[in-house]
Amino acid sequence: MLKTHHCGELRRQHAGEAVTLAGWVNRIRAQGGVIFLDLRDRSGVVQITADVARAPQAHADAEKVGREYVIQVVGVVRARPEGMTNPNMPTGEVEIEATGIKILNPAKTPPFELGGDSRVDEAIRLHYRYLDLRRPRMQQNILLRGKVTKFIRDYLYDRGFVEIETPILFKTTPEGARDYLVPSRVHPGKFYALPQSPQQLKQLLMVAGYERYFQIARCFRDEDQRGDRQPEFTQLDMEMSFVEREDVMNLIEGLMTELVEKVSDRELVTKPFPRLSYQEAMARYGSDKPDVRYGLEIKDISDIAGKSAFKVFVENVEAGNPVRAICVPGCGGYTRKQLDDLTELAKSAGGKGLAWMALEAGEQGQVKSPIGKFFSVDQLVAIVDRMEAKPGDLILISADKASVVAAVLDAARREFASRLGLVDPKKIGFCWIIDFPLFDWNADEKRWDPSHHLFTSPMPDDIPLLDSEPGKVRGQQYDLACNGYEVAGGSIRIHDRSLQEKIFGLIGLDVEDAKERFGHMLEAFEYGTPPHGGIAPGIDRLTMLLAGEPNIREVIAFPKSQQAADLMAGAPSAVEPIQLDELHILVNSNDSHSTE
Ligand code: ASP
Repeated sequence: MLKTHHCGELRRQHAGEAVTLAGWVNRIRAQGGVIFLDLRDRSGVVQITADVARAPQAHADAEKVGREYVIQVVGVVRARPEGMTNPNMPTGEVEIEATGIKILNPAKTPPFELGGDSRVDEAIRLHYRYLDLRRPRMQQNILLRGKVTKFIRDYLYDRGFVEIETPILFKTTPEGARDYLVPSRVHPGKFYALPQSPQQLKQLLMVAGYERYFQIARCFRDEDQRGDRQPEFTQLDMEMSFVEREDVMNLIEGLMTELVEKVSDRELVTKPFPRLSYQEAMARYGSDKPDVRYGLEIKDISDIAGKSAFKVFVENVEAGNPVRAICVPGCGGYTRKQLDDLTELAKSAGGKGLAWMALEAGEQGQVKSPIGKFFSVDQLVAIVDRMEAKPGDLILISADKASVVAAVLDAARREFASRLGLVDPKKIGFCWIIDFPLFDWNADEKRWDPSHHLFTSPMPDDIPLLDSEPGKVRGQQYDLACNGYEVAGGSIRIHDRSLQEKIFGLIGLDVEDAKERFGHMLEAFEYGTPPHGGIAPGIDRLTMLLAGEPNIREVIAFPKSQQAADLMAGAPSAVEPIQLDELHILVNSNDSHSTE
């Protein structure tokens, strides 16, 4: 070993010990005849002193080092004199008096500041990711991620789960995205698909009798890079046999609770996790992944608004659309300009605008609103009562198709929670969403799409509706939301061939297609498949929330850019013509030029 101790572990009780350390030079200062070096390794930073009078050679060597040089230091731990200690450093009570300094490898000056948390262009950070990862914030994130996966493994091993690897080169496992395809050299014209999730494989492991499986699994989804997505990401993939929905949910709730409380410094604010039906979540929060750490809940005022003289509201109610609102405390004094700007917020969520009613501050709390004249006093009072609005509050109202109203008020909730500082980033708020519709209507293709995936079982009571009203069938699906993000989705699966075939039919797969793509699943269902179900929490998103980071790239060691590129190694890249020949691939030269 090139070192006897780690920099960050040295304390006052080590005083007098001879040590050999190795690491990177974090900072250099010269004062009188002494050079001070901060030496850093993964464990932390410790101060080295090289005194010209006491160790002239070490001092001469220290003069040659630069920032980020890799050096080895031989020396003795000294307690710092009274008044010279640094309470901000865990090793601040000691320093190492160097007797020898050896340069193991010099370093160029880094292209950006590695100490502290300075803002650096993300493209540069990703290009020099190995330097970016030296920064304390990134290091904490990556170490936290390791603790998260270790905790999960221990938790599940303790509860009888087995960790099993499944192949990366496989056949399509659809989760609603495009597949990444890998051409086969030995089977000309044929392709493997990278798994969008190990869904089928974990179900087949249940057929195989393993009963409790998990894997920290890499998933690949070729999606348009909207939002905070990565083409490859990691999930805790798990599956259990002989279980019902409650069993999977309870296990995950226990795991998440302990994970937050034992591994992070965050505070869990929803215990036990609230459970909302999909309908309730959409009605109260306008979202199936609500942030339940704050109120600003949506209320329905269709019954009152439909009887007003305001045409937009009346027409919507007549068309069966809702009129819904949120009450924003203390924003009744917004200027006309501020209120007009809310139209943009509504438009960005796909709506046309937001109507508003402001309650003047003071005892009277008169309602001020451009649409106030279309309401009777009784109607205004009824709205104020329904919204539990107080003087000085602002009521924001949306009337449209239910999905648009939900999106607009969801956006308004998020916006005002942030403006009013209602979100404490230290807090973690989980909730379960259940009773999802099994299908979404795909109007373009005129067919039903699975709202979760193809293998989710309908609620037993709703099975008869598959023939008559598929849109009303609920799935045995459960999603876990946290702080406004979806962090896990799972379901009880179909384990019966004929029911599975029926679902394939409803989503427009004909018998031949279904056989070609999923014949192995249908076949397996005939060999004694136990009732089973599972879930898959996203490790990236979860770690992001536990670390308090704004995006998942901050908790992935080598993420892709938002354009799905690796900016460090330069992937994707062109390949040698001979490789393409071997793979029986002819690249359209127009395409290859345009993407280079
Ligand atoms: N395969 C699902 C997904 O990746 C999770 C599950 O149903 O277990 O979202």
